[in-house]
Amino acid sequence: MKKGIAASKGYGIGYVFIKKPEEMKVACDITASIDVEEEKLRLEKAVEASKEQVSRIKEKVEAEVGAEEALVFESHLMLLEDPEFTGAAIENVAKNKISAENAVQELIDMYAAIFASIDDEYLRERMADVKDVGRRLLNNLCGGTEDELSNLPENTIVVAHDLTPSDTAQLDKSKVAAFLTDIGGKTSHSAIMARTLEIPAVVGMADITCSVSTGDLVIVDGVKGEVLINPDSGTLSHYRALKETYEIEKKQLRSLIGKKIIDKNGRHIEIAANIGSPEDVSKVLENGAEGIGLFRTEFLYMDRESMPDEEEQYEAYKTVLEKMENKPVVIRTLDIGGDKRLKYLEMPDELNPFLGYRATRLCLDRPEIFKIQLRALLRASVYGNLKIMFPMISSLREFIEAKGILDECRNELKAEGISPSEDIEVGIMVEIPSAALTADELAKHVDFFSIGTNDLIQYTIAADRMNEKVSYLYEPMHPAVLKLIRMTIEEAHKAGKWCGMCGEMASDESAIPTLLEYGLDEFSMSASSILGAKKFILSNPDYRTES
Ligand code: PEP
Ligand code: MG
Repeated sequence: MKKGIAASKGYGIGYVFIKKPEEMKVACDITASIDVEEEKLRLEKAVEASKEQVSRIKEKVEAEVGAEEALVFESHLMLLEDPEFTGAAIENVAKNKISAENAVQELIDMYAAIFASIDDEYLRERMADVKDVGRRLLNNLCGGTEDELSNLPENTIVVAHDLTPSDTAQLDKSKVAAFLTDIGGKTSHSAIMARTLEIPAVVGMADITCSVSTGDLVIVDGVKGEVLINPDSGTLSHYRALKETYEIEKKQLRSLIGKKIIDKNGRHIEIAANIGSPEDVSKVLENGAEGIGLFRTEFLYMDRESMPDEEEQYEAYKTVLEKMENKPVVIRTLDIGGDKRLKYLEMPDELNPFLGYRATRLCLDRPEIFKIQLRALLRASVYGNLKIMFPMISSLREFIEAKGILDECRNELKAEGISPSEDIEVGIMVEIPSAALTADELAKHVDFFSIGTNDLIQYTIAADRMNEKVSYLYEPMHPAVLKLIRMTIEEAHKAGKWCGMCGEMASDESAIPTLLEYGLDEFSMSASSILGAKKFILSNPDYRTES
């Protein structure tokens, strides 16, 4: 059993897929000066490794799921042993003097062309097997590829040193039973993503990538932050029962959907959701969120080759606003930089990227990028209750500049005959101590604050939110953090503005009572945390529900 940081609740039981480190991908690019004998040997080795993996998976599936479900792996084995298939690829290396990877790719392409001309469902399914085997061979030749993350088998436990936001954006989420990572903490982006998707996750495991192999059966306990590797059948049934109870309790919480939380003075406490894409709205609605407290729009910009244009962004924002049917939707402008990079946008190498050229700083420096997003937001504003929020604001000057560009976009649109909504609230994230310390001044200018504790904590305590070595210092209840939060809420209220929180602390049961006492107006969290948080608040007799 191995321990880590419990990052997303729930239990996952499945088979390991190791996402190999980036540098292993370099082998895929070998095209020039082929050593035929070496390439043949590499391919033969990859075939053997694939056979071993498939046999292992087949045996496990037979024992634990059933013989019928294991049949698919039998046909994969047959393909790997077929001289017409892998044998042909090995011959092709010598015949055409191509790399092992190219030979496998050619084989897949050739079969795809043949199958494409046959109108038979059974045979089409065989093509899926060919692709699957081909992918496995390529993976064994060159390590994890991006394509693999989007083509995982059912019940996969994704194990990685770290999962970057763009890795998680590619994942076929329906196939992932859990995430495990060597590094990261509760508020790293892979952990946030896991909670949004309701996928159990344990992070900061130090060396999990070395402790398991692709194909191992593991149990992930996302409640305690524990991982059991190749468990015996007794342990397996124990966890299957725990998983079932967990799912039942989750269903019972559904009675709280549509219920508002009211305190003893009749004050309504809003429980909203954080999202990263328009697709996440379905989970928001399923969990009965009263609004969206944070839409991290940078995910629209990731995992692609070029910037999303105004039209595409407009469609995305419009979709979210329409689906939320006039409930408040806080859309945060681009928060790129730090650990979130775009492959098509050149950004300087920095010694301290988290303190560097990012978010609103970058947007103010590159207004041509910023304005595309602001125009899209303004155009979409008529479809719902939009609130615009600028991230990483450290001073009033930045807010005024950003707001100035927003006004410029509004005027431009008006001149083009387009009328954005006149009721858009414009606020800021308070996630830098300098903003919290000048909250009195900022509150006079903004319409609302949303406290981003994920960053506020790391900047206040100087403890990197991604680094498990200092995670013991990363303490939401540190008195310095609490002082800044209290000050921010009080100053917002003094100026007659509302204050929410969209950092992960908003769903932390050890913090919620203090935040309620400070008078926080809105708690925004992963959709999967909403009902649990409501139940927790209602365990205090000072709070009741109202339909
Ligand atoms: C935060 O910093 O608390 C926040 C919500 O923003 P992000 O996690 O995207 O940095
Ligand atoms: Mg932040």
